[in-house]
Amino acid sequence: MADFAELRRQALSLDELTRDAFVEEVLVLPMDDATTRGWKRMQATDRDDWVFAAGTGLTWAVDRPSKLGARRAAEAVTFPPLHSQMVGWWLFHAWRSIDLLKAGLDASASGTTSVTAVTSRALIEELGCLVTEVRLVRKAWETAKLPDLACLHRASLVRAQLSPTLTKLQFASRMSNLPASMPSATNVLTYVAKLDKLSKSPKFSEWYNWLSDASHPAFGARLIYVTNPLRHASGASILRLHSRSPIHLVDHHGDRTDFTYDIEDKANAALETCGFLLVEHLRAALKLVDDFGLTTSAPALTERAYWRNLLPASSGDTCPCGCGPWAVSLHAWGAEAPSVPALTV
Ligand SMILES: [Zn+2]
Repeated sequence: MADFAELRRQALSLDELTRDAFVEEVLVLPMDDATTRGWKRMQATDRDDWVFAAGTGLTWAVDRPSKLGARRAAEAVTFPPLHSQMVGWWLFHAWRSIDLLKAGLDASASGTTSVTAVTSRALIEELGCLVTEVRLVRKAWETAKLPDLACLHRASLVRAQLSPTLTKLQFASRMSNLPASMPSATNVLTYVAKLDKLSKSPKFSEWYNWLSDASHPAFGARLIYVTNPLRHASGASILRLHSRSPIHLVDHHGDRTDFTYDIEDKANAALETCGFLLVEHLRAALKLVDDFGLTTSAPALTERAYWRNLLPASSGDTCPCGCGPWAVSLHAWGAEAPSVPALTV
């Protein structure tokens, strides 16, 4: 059986990091002139604390700005809402990965291969989705971060780059009877093909095909409960042993022989590879989320408190994201966005 002690330690460390995480996501809807007039009438009577910024025919407004946010309206209606969307996007991937990883590791340890196969298959899909999305988010963020621009234009460029990307990722669905306004999600086979392409190996689609068969009441699922075939030396017959869990033989000397199980081997191999890659990509994706928050100072522009609301440090201090001294950190307009790991298997 595979030794998953290190993978379990890393999964539990992420679990610890995210267990109590919470974010109040704010989606800012651009208002046309009629909606803006209605919003202004309502605000005059309710006297809630809002800040707004107007562009060409559209207005954006958000409540609960900080004092700084009230002075920097264009940034306040853009950066904190987008940061809350990014944190929510990251937490989805983290919580889903951790739930699946823990279930897969427990199932593998107890020899419950039917569950390991289903969770390992889901982990391949989750890894393909994260690897694809982290590249999209990084590209959108870096396109907005690199150019040398005035403050006002910066906010609109960041919104134009990140808002459509994050909104599509969060609301895309595979259901067939979707309203026309809802984006349709990427086919899962596209994610698996992406993993093969990036890793320059057919491993992911091979695992995925077998584990899909094992996740349905098909040949692969039936293989879970039988040993790989033992052919009689004469060629006259084949012996397969059926059992609830993987079995082994112990001879009269006490020597142990394990039978082999193809689905168990593939499920464990996919669990190990996808597990470590997920942890690595989640850590890299969190650096992107933090880079956005620290470069834009989003948490300083709102009164809302949320997970990862890190504030820029003073020049002599250490960066709160853990990347090292603040003075040499790359959380600044014009600097490159944090990189995404290569996919090696
Ligand atoms: Zn940092």
